[in-house]
Amino acid sequence: MANRRSLQDRSSPRRDDGRVPVSARQSRAARLLYYAALAADDNFGYIAFVTKFLGLLDIAVVGCGVAGQAAATLLAESGHRVTIYERFTEPQPIGAGLLLQPTGLAVLRKLGLADAAIAGGARVTGLEARTHRGRSVLDLHYADLHPLAHGVGIHRATLFDLLHGRLLQSPAKLVTGTEIVDVDKTHLVEENGARHGPFDLIVAADGAHSALRARLMPQVRAPLYSWGCMWTTVPDLLGIGAAGLLRQRVRGTRLMMGLLPVGRGEVTIYWSLPIRALGRSKTIDLASWRRTATALWPEAAAIIDHAATGDFARATYRHVALARWNAGPVLFIGDAAHGTSPQLGQGANLGLMDAWTLATTLADAPDLLSAFLRFERRRDPAVRYYRHASHLLTPFFQSRLAPLGWLRDAVMGPACHVPGLRVMMGSTLAGTRRGWLSATPLGDNGCFPLDV
Ligand SMILES: Cc1cc2nc3c(=O)[nH]c(=O)nc-3n(C[C@H](O)[C@H](O)[C@H](O)COP(=O)(O)OP(=O)(O)OC[C@H]3O[C@@H](n4cnc5c(N)ncnc54)[C@H](O)[C@@H]3O)c2cc1C
Repeated sequence: MANRRSLQDRSSPRRDDGRVPVSARQSRAARLLYYAALAADDNFGYIAFVTKFLGLLDIAVVGCGVAGQAAATLLAESGHRVTIYERFTEPQPIGAGLLLQPTGLAVLRKLGLADAAIAGGARVTGLEARTHRGRSVLDLHYADLHPLAHGVGIHRATLFDLLHGRLLQSPAKLVTGTEIVDVDKTHLVEENGARHGPFDLIVAADGAHSALRARLMPQVRAPLYSWGCMWTTVPDLLGIGAAGLLRQRVRGTRLMMGLLPVGRGEVTIYWSLPIRALGRSKTIDLASWRRTATALWPEAAAIIDHAATGDFARATYRHVALARWNAGPVLFIGDAAHGTSPQLGQGANLGLMDAWTLATTLADAPDLLSAFLRFERRRDPAVRYYRHASHLLTPFFQSRLAPLGWLRDAVMGPACHVPGLRVMMGSTLAGTRRGWLSATPLGDNGCFPLDV
């Protein structure tokens, strides 16, 4: 590992092919021991101990989404030999516009993509949620944490293109049209039995509905939330982008609509629905939706009318809680490790943070097992907090439990004006919480400090 080029130290020597030199004898001997241990079905502790001699790892990343692309790029540029596998022939973004938080923006900055993300998206300064009667439910602003802090609403395709362009510039190798369904020791396995490998480390970034998690961690239940949403992106006829706010309108716990500016004069509409209404076979009655949505949010009628003629996509979410982040040499990151409801708008940001933490942890850990333990220690507190908070909060916005809606309307609005609570809620929005009791303060420039 000492030979590996660290992310911070870009001055160490590289070979012509961009890799970091590793003693061939050292590497071969370690590999022999490593595979001998695997063949003997030895426990992972021994295998990981042995890999400390490897220096440069052969890494497979499964899934070309936000987390997978960021991880593959960062790991390849740290000197590892990285291959990223994607089931689609043409990797493509799936899903609605999303809100990048200071945490996710900090990782994009390390990738040299933050300015392009800000330019291609819409600067978001806060979140405002109201009931259909206009009563304030949430009124949070990044400026409460730092005058320069902000989020960025961005079309998923824009974020995908940025990450994908960056991946293609990196030494990582992309293999598309390859659906990985299993791992056999150090090899990836496709449905038709084709095998890829061997790999020292496999990063499973195959999303909330992860096939690898179901295969390697059958004890993890990962239940679907009983509510999901439909969404579409339309021209921003109301100037939501100019106001710089993510806006929501709610009525009880059954009706919720969100408007997120995503740049380029567009806004993404979210509409909450129970999952039984979201099945592929269900048709969405757009005329009826338009009536309900306009009654909920009359001021948004122009946008609603426009959306009612277009295509809505559907999204369901899972509650994923892993006891450990790894199963042998397979490490789960992104939604595969901690999928949750997007109520707090954190999933992509958490995935970007996973990618950064993995690359930096591998760069300074003495062996793979230590790296896994350190990674878990670094990521667990924040991920646990956001998973719990999302799980707790979601029924207040999406459920059949009317009393939760009354409680929300009575308590949350006033809570936003209690100084301590306001900062806690603001830091939750900004993605900076480390747990229920602490948060990472933003740096002097209003950015999230990744290197502390
Ligand atoms: C409606 C909605 C709104 C959201 N809003 C926000 C928001 O505002 N802010 C935010 O941060 N997050 C938001 N999220 C969450 C965010 O979209 C996810 O957390 C994020 O996309 C997860 O990234 P990922 O890379 O882990 O997984 P994904 O983006 O799901 O990528 C997984 C990739 O793996 C590939 N794959 C899957 N299975 C296999 C296989 N077997 N073999 C090979 N490849 C495979 C897939 O094709 C895909 O390319 C939202 C989610 C939804 C549904």
